[in-house]
Amino acid sequence: MKLTNTLTKAKQDFKPITPYEVTLYTCGPTVYDYAHIGNLRSFVFDDLLRRSLQLNYKVKHVMNITDVGHLVSDADEGEDKLEKGARREGKTVWQVAEYYSEVFKQDMAALNILHPNGYTGRPDGYARATDFIEQQINMIKLLIDKGFAYQAKQAIYFDVTKLTDYGKLSGQSLADKAVGARDDVVTDPDKKHPYDFAVWFFTVGHFKDHTMHWPSPWGNGFPGWHLECSAIIHSTLGEPIDIHTGGVDHIGTHHTNEIAQSEAAFGLPLANFWLHNEFVMVDGAKMSKSLGNYYRLQNITQKGYHPLSFRLLCLQAHYRSQLNFTWQSLEAAQNFLINLYAFADMQFQASPKQSGELSKFWQKALESVTSALMDDMHSEQALSEIATVINGADALGLLSTRDADELQKFLKSIESVLGLNLASRQDISSDAKALIDEREQARQTKDFAKSDQIRDQLAQEGIAVEDTPCGPRWRRTKLL
Ligand code: AMP
Ligand code: ZN
Repeated sequence: MKLTNTLTKAKQDFKPITPYEVTLYTCGPTVYDYAHIGNLRSFVFDDLLRRSLQLNYKVKHVMNITDVGHLVSDADEGEDKLEKGARREGKTVWQVAEYYSEVFKQDMAALNILHPNGYTGRPDGYARATDFIEQQINMIKLLIDKGFAYQAKQAIYFDVTKLTDYGKLSGQSLADKAVGARDDVVTDPDKKHPYDFAVWFFTVGHFKDHTMHWPSPWGNGFPGWHLECSAIIHSTLGEPIDIHTGGVDHIGTHHTNEIAQSEAAFGLPLANFWLHNEFVMVDGAKMSKSLGNYYRLQNITQKGYHPLSFRLLCLQAHYRSQLNFTWQSLEAAQNFLINLYAFADMQFQASPKQSGELSKFWQKALESVTSALMDDMHSEQALSEIATVINGADALGLLSTRDADELQKFLKSIESVLGLNLASRQDISSDAKALIDEREQARQTKDFAKSDQIRDQLAQEGIAVEDTPCGPRWRRTKLL
């Protein structure tokens, strides 16, 4: 498998550290509000990666849930997002975290995203930042002992100047960063360098009333956002891991800081491969809460779109390309899903007629789909290969019993990666089948009034009947 590694800026052959096993870590959501479909794209990408890897490897996958410490700015400024959410809703931070974690898990389920399986401390498999406070404190101890962190009045900071390769993920050195420094980043005057980042905030100053806080050897407080991922990786997977993922907006700050503190504390690389998904865009701008140009999954399902139509829309773009969201593109994805299901439903319409040697056809079809995925997960290419297969299968008749078996095998193989419910289709009801037979008899006896009437009746049930040289064929016109 070939993957594009942000660290080397090259497409490389993927090789896990342990043969046949892959350790994968994903930065999860900050649960202070609903996830928007931009956020969800990053988890669909991650799921595609995990499922593609699972074709060849056993994958140990850890994902966190950020329920403390993520400030409004990715640098160390502003309020904690969770505290902000609690104030907005008149709830406690714990209630806010619980509620949005639940909604997030529902979204994941609706999108057929596999549960993280590498952390067993919680039944749902998600590693909460607040479950790893002790591990984060231990990491700070190490960083202080090794001279990489220092204590100031407001926070304990990581000293970025202590690492010669700080910024290697983005390729931006501290000198480059200083030139491009943003005016809006107001920094604590006690920071030795403006890019030093907090690993622990004290409950002083504007964090005096911070609800979530824990004792530490240095005083009461709460961990900085970047630290949780490093501490969770250390205690669940261990360094180095094979692959770390997230959205491209994490490259410059969050992932850069994860690398800095993990490598400083443990003296090992954090991850061998770094994979980043591009943004969902709306009218040329990144979909984001701050711009207000976002939709939730619920907004699109309320308009009559199936969650898996959104999953398919994500798969129709390569993960490293921006995805411009429009309602027309979602509509087109939904129509494509209906076509994929019609193709899958051909397994129920086999007849005993033999149609020659088709095994090679299916073998080639599967090879072309998997080779697109093995080449840096070109899911859009894999889908276009499937569209070609559908046309080819149509042309070949695909109606013998043996072909139905081959089709089922093919569907099962591609479904394990695509996650579109292609392999769990249900046949139409026996009543609908009886109507199709009745209509065919009416046609044979040239009773076209009756056959048209039955056709209309079936259409109302969302079943279209087409007359082919091999007899009538049905397809569902709506999503089941
Ligand atoms: P957050 O909950 O803000 O930590 O974000 C969760 C994930 O969504 C992160 O990996 C972000 O990089 C990613 N993300 C945020 N906005 C977008 C977007 N518009 N398109 C794609 N991914 C995004
Ligand atoms: Zn992270």
